[in-house]
Amino acid sequence: MSVKGKVEVNAELCKGCGLCIAFCPRDVLGLSGEVNSRGYKIVEPVSPSRCTGCAICAEMCPDVALTVWRLKRTKEAVLHD
Ligand code: SF4
Ligand code: SF4
Repeated sequence: MSVKGKVEVNAELCKGCGLCIAFCPRDVLGLSGEVNSRGYKIVEPVSPSRCTGCAICAEMCPDVALTVWRLKRTKEAVLHD
């Protein structure tokens, strides 16, 4: 069993400060081309498959715009006769 992460951005809370981008050890996050209703560029997971679910990004975000999950992956055994 291995652990993988998933990060979700609340676009309306993000102000595009880039702290989460700078602190992610896996280079998962980047600024998207989109802006929210307050006119801020927002962050998105540009390499989501690299996320480990460490939650450093969520801890660094001053606006609590990030939610992180850790997903448990189970490997099914394939049995042959
Ligand atoms: S949970 Fe960790 S690996 Fe995933 S985006 Fe946040 S800082 Fe990066
Ligand atoms: S740290 Fe928070 S507010 Fe700043 S860019 Fe990342 S998600 Fe947006």
